[in-house]
Amino acid sequence: MSEGPAARRLRYLQAMGIPLWVPRERGASTPATAVSEPSADGSGGDEGLGWDELQAQVAACTRCGLERTRTQAVFGVGDRRARWMFVGEAPGADEDRRGEPFVGRAGRLLDAMLRAIDLERGQVYIANILKCRPPHNRDPLPEEVACCEPYLQRQVALAAPALIVALGRIAAHNLLKTQTSLGGLRGRVHRYGPQGIPVVVTYHPAYLLRSPGEKRKVWEDLCHARRVVAQADDDAAH
Ligand code: SF4
Repeated sequence: MSEGPAARRLRYLQAMGIPLWVPRERGASTPATAVSEPSADGSGGDEGLGWDELQAQVAACTRCGLERTRTQAVFGVGDRRARWMFVGEAPGADEDRRGEPFVGRAGRLLDAMLRAIDLERGQVYIANILKCRPPHNRDPLPEEVACCEPYLQRQVALAAPALIVALGRIAAHNLLKTQTSLGGLRGRVHRYGPQGIPVVVTYHPAYLLRSPGEKRKVWEDLCHARRVVAQADDDAAH
């Protein structure tokens, strides 16, 4: 028998380390769905490249200067035809060393978030706004984002996911070209690129490690994201 929503929520709370006796916030259960206008260009400057060519180009990239301090570029990982694409900010120290996005503690928390919605890492595609680690994990500079953006745009065009989940403020702001607070972006469906791919916004796992009280909001966002993918599947079937 398949697991119901209540059992799945319980499993999420356990996986995320949330005490089970804490009552759920009143009125915070179902974020409203609104649609914002397309806001990112998404046209890309690396049109025509296939996955392997694109990955090779990123590995050798010297466009923004971060190649001088990186160990290696971190291209992305997962199913290149996934329905779900998760986009974070930039590689950290662990990612820079291993060449894979979302490893270490934040990566394990992301894995727990994925399992809560019945997904494994290999079933989704995970990438970052920036492919190379900014020194001392500082925020990406606008000019670095501008240099790197065509790579992500091409990844999105190639994967053609049903949904992009923006992990954290920096990913959301750069994908959606907005300065709206993360709280103001949650609970809505935004659009990315010429294909108008739906985007939902939630907290970055690294932030959740520092602010575990926000994990409940992430559960709400993941439920919201599931509904968006289910709607896309429904639309595709008809
Ligand atoms: S961050 Fe992006 S643009 Fe900058 S060197 Fe790395 S791959 Fe190139």
